[in-house]
Amino acid sequence: MTEVSVAKDDVAATGDLVALRNVNKHFGALHVLQDIDLTIARGEVVVVIGPSGSGKSTLCRTINRLETIDSGTITIDGKPLPQEGRELARLRADVGMVFQSFNLFAHKTVLDNVILGQVKVRKADKQKAEEKARALLDRVGVGAQADKYPAQLSGGQQQRVAIARALAMDPKVMLFDEPTSALDPEMINEVLEVMQQLARDGMTMIVVTHEMGFARSAANRVVFMADGRIVEEATPDQFFSNPRSDRAKDFLSKIL
Ligand code: ADP
Ligand code: MG
Repeated sequence: MTEVSVAKDDVAATGDLVALRNVNKHFGALHVLQDIDLTIARGEVVVVIGPSGSGKSTLCRTINRLETIDSGTITIDGKPLPQEGRELARLRADVGMVFQSFNLFAHKTVLDNVILGQVKVRKADKQKAEEKARALLDRVGVGAQADKYPAQLSGGQQQRVAIARALAMDPKVMLFDEPTSALDPEMINEVLEVMQQLARDGMTMIVVTHEMGFARSAANRVVFMADGRIVEEATPDQFFSNPRSDRAKDFLSKIL
């Protein structure tokens, strides 16, 4: 696997890249995010784990404003997330997102999937966007699939295209929400390897996953959520060998 490039200013600068302060969100009567305080430093890889329904996806979705919040603040690289408008589109593009379900544009070729956002949101020159798209597709190992449509690719290939598409926007941080959960087992590693390489290259990453091998080898920190709260934060070593809370102990006993 060749290197996947990371926006240069990510590496040069320092400080918290993502900061959530006292964030609360409800879905009707459900208090889905409760007093969330979470900061992610530049270059840090944070793995978020927890039972189904604990609010992990909602947390990801608030970070790029696919969901609004009721109170608290979220800043990306020191800038508060605006509620709407052009500024929001630009800031949202700083946050790359990869979903469980790939979410590629079915009627666009693989290449066009990776070109589109560059031209529309980043206002990139078409030719430059295509060169960058081809380079990124090569880097995630699907360069030969550039002219195909998503449905002609395996799930693992589609997910790698989705990663290339997100990277094409030069995001400051990448969010992955269970990126391998919908994949056949034999395709999980090819996606995790791309993510491992990104982590080694210094990308700031928030990864919701049940892949504990990935958490152990790539994460700087594990965040354990239950019932809309961050119950525990620790290094992978600490968390897996010595979870402090009963909720985490119970969760680990079920998945390990
Ligand atoms: P996780 O990703 O940890 O499984 P989610 O963030 O998807 O958890 O969901 C947390 C809770 O919020 C669940 O109880 C879920 O049913 C609920 N929820 C998620 N999205 C919505 C929504 N758009 N409207 C109402 N309830 C929602
Ligand atoms: Mg989820």
